[in-house]
Amino acid sequence: MKIYPIAQPYITKDEEREVLKVLRSGSLSLGPKYQEFEKKFAKKIGRKYACAVSSGTAGLHLAMIVAGIGAGDAVITTPFSFVASANCILYVGARPIFVDIDPAMYNIDPKKIEQTIINLSASRRKKLKAMLVVHIFGQSADMSAIQKIAKKYQLKIIEDACESIEATYKKRKVGTFGESAVFAFYPNKQITTGEGGMIVTDSKKNYDLCCSLRNQGRVSDMQWLDHKYLGYNYRLDEMSAAVGLAQLEKLDFFIQQRRKIAGWYNKHLVKYGEVIQLPTVAAGNTHSWFVYVIKILPKNIKRDLVIKALAKQGICTKPYLPSIHLFDFYRKKFNYQKGDFPVSEDVSANSLALPFYVNLKESDISYIVKKLTGVLKKYGK
Ligand SMILES: *Cc1c(COP(=O)(O)O)cnc(C)c1O
Repeated sequence: MKIYPIAQPYITKDEEREVLKVLRSGSLSLGPKYQEFEKKFAKKIGRKYACAVSSGTAGLHLAMIVAGIGAGDAVITTPFSFVASANCILYVGARPIFVDIDPAMYNIDPKKIEQTIINLSASRRKKLKAMLVVHIFGQSADMSAIQKIAKKYQLKIIEDACESIEATYKKRKVGTFGESAVFAFYPNKQITTGEGGMIVTDSKKNYDLCCSLRNQGRVSDMQWLDHKYLGYNYRLDEMSAAVGLAQLEKLDFFIQQRRKIAGWYNKHLVKYGEVIQLPTVAAGNTHSWFVYVIKILPKNIKRDLVIKALAKQGICTKPYLPSIHLFDFYRKKFNYQKGDFPVSEDVSANSLALPFYVNLKESDISYIVKKLTGVLKKYGK
């Protein structure tokens, strides 16, 4: 039986060679590679500065700090995301204000943002500082509408672009809208460094502060054991940076392949439109396909049973994603309940991500679709 994992990094001799070079150089941290990775990455995204860090989560944490978000502040964000995008707000002592999502694209719904702001108590509204905008699954949020709201209520925009490198909104790349934006390189992302992340910005001040905070609060003209701020160890090591450089070279190819594979899924699934909601790409957007997520429409088909049945046939799928406000920790801290964000909860309950990685061929996709639709037929009776 052929086994299909849900995701798989695409690693070649290039990465092996570059890592070996670093290992042999003896310069394993704070060497030349992370700086080269930063410069090339900033150029690729189209921003002035990029600061490499040890994970996307670390990047989000620093982006919050440099935005001046602190204890008692409030930040608008989506409940339909990977948990890190809300956790980073808690790391700095601020409060996430969740806003429900658009039922087709699954990004934060701008129409609901304004209503949420209006409904806030006067004291909380005064503490509202920013919107942490997540571009989910490889697609940009509705940035014009979000920028309008940001202007009207004087809110900063910080982008969680961890899932959406190279996605565009009206021809403009994600990661170029916010005061800062964060990318991530975990092995399931479009490019990987193992663990790693990147903060991009046009502000020299923010860049310098990020660089200091990732390195224990040391500033560039200081001695090794002298520290100006309360910092962290969020450095990216040289082996990871070398992998990142090799991956960056292949990024255009990866995105091209991912678009092709998504096209194959669309082609083979389109005739099941009554049973499966396919991914929707908003007008004016280009998608960069972090994952391919479908929603099962008939109420009598239990998503979790579908996942189990497919796993038995060697096809790994996953619920994508659980709603953050219903995690135990968030429920206890903020008293969230089922029904608070119904659109997000509905997608969380009924969606699943299908195997998706660069090496897949059209024959794999048609095989996966055949197994999937077979299972749906069986459970739909
Ligand atoms: C992957 C991801 C992150 C960061 O994850 P790390 O594992 O810390 O690199 C943050 N937000 C979203 C939406 C993500 O998908």
